[in-house]
Amino acid sequence: MVDVSIVEEDEKYIKAELDGIPLSIANGIRRFTMNEVPVMAVEEILIIENTSAMHNEVLAHRISLIPFISDIDRYVAQEECTCGSRLGCERCVVRYVLRAEARDEPVTVYSRDIIPEDANTTVKPVSPKIPIVKLAPGQRLEMELYVRVGRGRKNAKWQAAISSLYEKDGEPGKRILYIESIGFLPPRRILKEAVNIFKKKVQELDEKIKRELEG
Ligand SMILES: [Zn+2]
Repeated sequence: MVDVSIVEEDEKYIKAELDGIPLSIANGIRRFTMNEVPVMAVEEILIIENTSAMHNEVLAHRISLIPFISDIDRYVAQEECTCGSRLGCERCVVRYVLRAEARDEPVTVYSRDIIPEDANTTVKPVSPKIPIVKLAPGQRLEMELYVRVGRGRKNAKWQAAISSLYEKDGEPGKRILYIESIGFLPPRRILKEAVNIFKKKVQELDEKIKRELEG
């Protein structure tokens, strides 16, 4: 018999007890929580002005590592979108501007300074307090950011969670799947998505095998 129960959870993590589930399946789901669950981060940056002491590449890299609270019901990955446009449409890209200037005093630019073009979007940095760069008096920053849906297997900046799988002490066959969310999605949603992705892959495989055997 196969059984799953949630034994512990809060807004950061979830612990699921898996009973009678083969190790390879449990491990597949664990890997999907990290590599396949879609989440949103900055994929492209157009730097209009940067007179800070930080080089463009370093600045862009820092910004790309900021996790965004993700809406994967509304947005899809660009390669899966029907628009077929490189620039993207309202289903596959969210645009932001980041503008800052230090006049007489030094200024620290934070993630809260990333302003969405669409004021109604729920997609925003997981915390408003992530420091990005310090500007000395007279320095300016202006850029456009393009946030898109991606997956951890494509780039680690889209990794939804850090997950592990271990056997319960003295209870062979019972395992704990521990999922810690990076912040893009609630842990429960990450687990649900990973299981759905697993299901989809098994269905695809099933169809391929059937076609192969019949063809
Ligand atoms: Zn699109």
